[in-house]
Amino acid sequence: MIYSILVVDDDEAIKNSVEEFLIIRNYKVKTAANAQQALDILKIFSADIVITDITMQGMDGLELTKKIKSKYHADVMVMTGYSAEYSYEEAVKAGASDFVFKPFKFEELELRISRVLRESEIKQERVNLLKKLEKLAITDALTKLYNSRHFFSEIKTEIMRNKRYSRDLSLLILDIDFFKKYNDNWGHVEGDRVLMEIGKTIKSCMRSMDTAYRYGGEEFAIILPETGIEEACVVGTRIKENISDLIFEPEPGEKKSIKISVGATEIVDGEDYKTFIKRADKALYKSKDTGRDKLSHL
Ligand code: GH3
Ligand code: MG
Ligand code: MG
Repeated sequence: MIYSILVVDDDEAIKNSVEEFLIIRNYKVKTAANAQQALDILKIFSADIVITDITMQGMDGLELTKKIKSKYHADVMVMTGYSAEYSYEEAVKAGASDFVFKPFKFEELELRISRVLRESEIKQERVNLLKKLEKLAITDALTKLYNSRHFFSEIKTEIMRNKRYSRDLSLLILDIDFFKKYNDNWGHVEGDRVLMEIGKTIKSCMRSMDTAYRYGGEEFAIILPETGIEEACVVGTRIKENISDLIFEPEPGEKKSIKISVGATEIVDGEDYKTFIKRADKALYKSKDTGRDKLSHL
């Protein structure tokens, strides 16, 4: 990987010698003679590290460091002479990752650059890992839909949004018909395959603002923001039809289709999430009680 470095110094000799050394060491380098020029370059040059002198005409290196850290991901290393009045503490407070005294040996500068780059990589890895863990914590492993924990947190958020902006909000709850029988006949592994395919089908039928959840073992929920009951029923029917079009072959020669029942409902002003979910559940059980393989709304 080739790293990019911006060198900022109003001393031509230092700026040019650092640039030369870094180019030989395979870095992509740009230089600036003052802080303002550096900020202009950063608008179009994505630097991994900015190495800046502290004492400069106009904006000094510490002010520049603060500006960079508030806007960009770049690490900043500051250079200062021994006689300068700036302290290591001030530089770190401004957001600098390292502090180099002039004159320095190029080898020392390179070691410091390597260390800053390594620390930045470790930090990035940690951020990525955290993001992955956060996603894992709200995802159902089998269907790749969101899990029920996330459902309860999101439905509360959506109800709050609905109250604040007086927008429509609908909810679908889906349950597989006679799924116990399917499991009993063909085994749990084949049952899991059905759940996986249903997850994919639900995702493919949703609109971009909808979110789908594995609400229980073989129950799914879909939150439809800014959606009235008619449109919710259209989405629910599309999902139901697409699922019933799937063909499963739990054993060679055994072609099976799966049916689901759906309950749909729209939020009533002022109600809480429990009442809202309860009504969707009731609509689902209406579908079950009146023959299954259908959508009911309440
Ligand atoms: P109904 O039409 O009334 O919904 O009947 P049903 O058989 O689908 O409902 P019931 O609640 O009696 O059974 C649900 C079944 O779902 C029980 C269990 O075998 C199955 N199930 C629940 N979670 C999982 C799972 O994670 N994997 C598999 N393979 N099956 C599951
Ligand atoms: Mg069930
Ligand atoms: Mg069921």
